[in-house]
Amino acid sequence: MATGTIPAAARRRSAELRELVERHARQYYVLDSPEISDAEYDTLFRELLDVEARYPELQTPDSPTQRVGGAPLDAFSKVRHRAPMLSLNNAFSPDEVREFGRRVERHAGAVAGYVCELKIDGLALSLTYRDGTYVRAATRGNGVEGEDVTANVRTIRSVPMSIDAAALGRRSEFEARGEVYLPKAAFATVNARLEEAGKPTYANPRNAAAGAVRQLDPSVTAKRGLQTFMYQLDPPGPARTQAEVLDALQTLGFRVNPNRRVAATIDEVLAFLEEWADGRHNLDYETDGVVVKVLSLAEQAELGSISRSPRWAIAYKFPPEERETTVLDIIVGVGRTGAVTPVAMLEPVVVAGSTVRRCTLHNEDEVQRKDVRIGDTVVLHKAGDVIPEIVRVVLERRPKKTKPWVMPGRCPACDFELVREEGEVVRRCLNPLCPAQRRERILHFASRGTMNIEGLGPAIVDQLVELGHVQEPADLFTLTRDQLLTLDGFAERSAEKLLASIDKRRSVPLDRLINALGIRHVGEHTALTLAGHFGSLEALAQAGEAQLLDVEGMGPVVARHVAMWFESSEGKEVLDHLRNVGVAAEGASRTEGAWTGQTWVLTGSLDGLTRPEAEERIRVLGGNPSSSVSKKTHTVVAGSAPGSKLEKARRLGVRVIDEATFLDELSAAEAGR
Ligand code: NAD
Repeated sequence: MATGTIPAAARRRSAELRELVERHARQYYVLDSPEISDAEYDTLFRELLDVEARYPELQTPDSPTQRVGGAPLDAFSKVRHRAPMLSLNNAFSPDEVREFGRRVERHAGAVAGYVCELKIDGLALSLTYRDGTYVRAATRGNGVEGEDVTANVRTIRSVPMSIDAAALGRRSEFEARGEVYLPKAAFATVNARLEEAGKPTYANPRNAAAGAVRQLDPSVTAKRGLQTFMYQLDPPGPARTQAEVLDALQTLGFRVNPNRRVAATIDEVLAFLEEWADGRHNLDYETDGVVVKVLSLAEQAELGSISRSPRWAIAYKFPPEERETTVLDIIVGVGRTGAVTPVAMLEPVVVAGSTVRRCTLHNEDEVQRKDVRIGDTVVLHKAGDVIPEIVRVVLERRPKKTKPWVMPGRCPACDFELVREEGEVVRRCLNPLCPAQRRERILHFASRGTMNIEGLGPAIVDQLVELGHVQEPADLFTLTRDQLLTLDGFAERSAEKLLASIDKRRSVPLDRLINALGIRHVGEHTALTLAGHFGSLEALAQAGEAQLLDVEGMGPVVARHVAMWFESSEGKEVLDHLRNVGVAAEGASRTEGAWTGQTWVLTGSLDGLTRPEAEERIRVLGGNPSSSVSKKTHTVVAGSAPGSKLEKARRLGVRVIDEATFLDELSAAEAGR
């Protein structure tokens, strides 16, 4: 077609689309922070493909339709892939999957079948092994060059560091490719933590996973709970089909998704798509579609690839689960640390398998950006299949006379002025006596991840706070049967039961207790780190900001807040009261490791390291340092001038070692971590 015959409008639109797609691809791939939904992006991308198909001259070599992903970040060293890591063509309907089948047959004739795999909403990862040892991990990047994330990926438990010799066979160097992802629950946790800290949240698990993998500090990656599913092996060895590749990966020790099927025909493929359209909501990870691959590797090779994607595979995308509903009201909730969050109350609607009645609007900037108003019709979806989110307002259906929403200047619970600190997106109520914060603090204290007090839910806490029976966590431990009997629905037995479950929690692992205190920026992971480092609540309470900063992985903001909490009169009071009612840590909690379940006792003085150092290293390995010897003690380490513990150990037949052996065993166990 001659250039002159291309309508000016098509030319303009293609340039516009290129720019839009380019910008959103960068937000998504490079910055992990998309501004539009995947469905909207796919529509733009599709439109660009259409224009380029109609007017091939408009297809510039640098068009996003010709490229994969985004540029690798400069923060990481770059890795050139042995073979490019491609993207996949998409199909948005069963018809387009049929069309894929026809295309395959046009090129390769009748094929032996297809493999259906769930498409994991994660980040493509390439792992290289040499002589059975993990040597490198890289992201996909732009397909040709990715980022070197070897150290970070090393912290993911399902990535084997070495391959069993029998399974390895004659392979000297090979590459396994697959997806690294964040399970739904971990995604929800990461976002809850970000929201509480007043930081922007991740739009979907894929971006959250990318954020975790692309951390400059591997210890941060280690804490996020990443998982993997692998699906490609290069070279494939004796495998002749994609199904055999998946089996081989499993034999080599990789995690492979069990939800896969060999389909003889496209009809069988379509049946698989249908099964998972709803079934996917029951999985603990997010899947946004099904990847259909030609079964035979020889047939795959014959089909080959075009620019950014192979001809032998297609990614079928499930239709986006978006529903429309009405905003009945916008209220503000007050969290345990005083963060005030706007929440949309909605006309109930079923999205991705469950009824949604309310949905967080995160912060005032977000409400403004989306311009959500009371009375609006909105499009709702679930980020990562779990967190309801307003995608956009349907402006055409906005009722007359609506007003933009404004954040109240005062706390809805205590009327204190709300303050927005510099660099934060949230406003906070800074009144330590705010009843709403009090309720949230008690709920947090009792919740599953902290003190885990069975049977103490929001309805009961509300009543306890309202009746003045409980003002702070320690009050839970002095509740009486008579007080409980004044609550709705409480009888003798239920009161006794709740008292018993409260009583059971007078002694809990130290990290749970630290987490339960509700200190700003301290969640499960930080609590675990602090417990491991300080060993007791007393030691932690005495550590000032400087000492907290010395703790590995502790940033200045967290250190400052922890120190501030323990120095504040409210903090001191909470601790005092807890102590008075007999709540105490049952000793530092254990992390999982080579010494999990083992109790170690140190006696006498050590030359090579201080006792707190030795105890810390035992804890890091999952062991439990203790000060008294019993039959259950795993090992006693006898330094110079050991005390009576050594005698007792001998009497009970407990293993005793000297300092040198201890250091050897420590190093060996640490090397295997
Ligand atoms: P893709 O997600 O369509 O498919 C290719 C990728 O699928 C592979 O690289 C691999 O990582 C992954 N995959 C998952 N399971 C797999 C399996 N079993 N076998 C093979 N591959 C599997 O392609 P893409 O180029 O990575 O990304 C496009 C996606 O990103 C689209 O969903 C698009 O909506 C989204 N996106 C969104 C925005 C936005 O602004 N919202 C911007 C850019 C891209």
